[in-house]
Amino acid sequence: MSTNLNMNPRATRKKIVISEFIDTCAVAALSEHFDVHADASLVDQPVALNALLADADALIVRNRTQVRAALLDAAPRLSVVGRLGVGLDNIDLDACAQRNVSVFPATGANARAVAEYVLATALMLLRGAYRSSMEVAAGKWPRAALSNGREAAGSTLAVIGFGGIGQLVAQLARALGMQVLAYDPLQPADAACWAATGARRVSIDEALRAADVITLHVPLVDSTRNLLGASQLAALKRHAIIVNTSRGGIVDEAALALALREGRIGGAALDVFNDEPLAARSPLADAPNLILTPHIAGLTMQSNERVSTLVAARVTEALLAQRDSHVTEGISR
Ligand code: NAD
Repeated sequence: MSTNLNMNPRATRKKIVISEFIDTCAVAALSEHFDVHADASLVDQPVALNALLADADALIVRNRTQVRAALLDAAPRLSVVGRLGVGLDNIDLDACAQRNVSVFPATGANARAVAEYVLATALMLLRGAYRSSMEVAAGKWPRAALSNGREAAGSTLAVIGFGGIGQLVAQLARALGMQVLAYDPLQPADAACWAATGARRVSIDEALRAADVITLHVPLVDSTRNLLGASQLAALKRHAIIVNTSRGGIVDEAALALALREGRIGGAALDVFNDEPLAARSPLADAPNLILTPHIAGLTMQSNERVSTLVAARVTEALLAQRDSHVTEGISR
């Protein structure tokens, strides 16, 4: 039996680079086992990031670091990528697979934050009455104009993409007395989610026709790009509310801005955009009945901690499993 350098964990500490913000507890937990380089500004410093990646074993990112072939080529030892979130459109999964790099998202850890955002913005836009603070403070009394809002109870919510977040939104909406329809061709009719949530499985055409509120929870892939374009927007009710927390590129921003300006839909809440930050002269900039937020639907104090803790645990498990398998290999040789 040979002794192995790996028997001294300090001598073989693996290196983790974290290029976007992460909860400090997670950094502390990772530092117990690994050399951790956490710097939220690395995402904006590609040269420094690539230099750190030259001998890194793992990289942890949010949604801004582009984990594509060029980055992976700068990281020849990389075997693990942790994603502090769910969407994987900033990660080239094929390029990772080709290089045996495993990717660990924080599946489920920010679902509640997103689901509560959807209900909060939908309620605000349905009621249409919560933006009068400036007027009321200035002594105006726009009571008549704000007396015709809608209640959620009895309204129809259409969920597009019925995965983890879509199903949680459905449960919260049902608790408010909403009817829930969902479109997701990848969830078969006998999937447990239909009975579990009380949502009715429908075609996208029926979802568009029936929705008082329509909320998007699909990944950004070829089949979902511009899923809500001009013709889909034209099929909506005049008072329909759209909430997009999924990804920019799924709703046609120019078509949405025009529909809002022409009063063809009731309102929209957008947390995600084609360009983040929003491009100068975006058609959305002066559209009415529109709530804009900077990609924060999944970010709360609680979800930040859950996401960071989960990803730190999954990255730790993967790296320690590699180390242990090397130790075992060394001992048995
Ligand atoms: P998920 O994988 O659990 O669910 C996605 C669902 O979309 C799946 O059920 C899938 O079958 C369905 N789907 C795929 N292609 C479809 C299509 N063409 N038409 C209809 N349905 C389709 O993912 P999730 O955890 O529910 O997250 C959904 C998306 O939300 C993520 O991909 C991510 O981009 C986004 N997200 C945003 C934030 C934020 O802060 N704004 C936070 C978390 C997630």
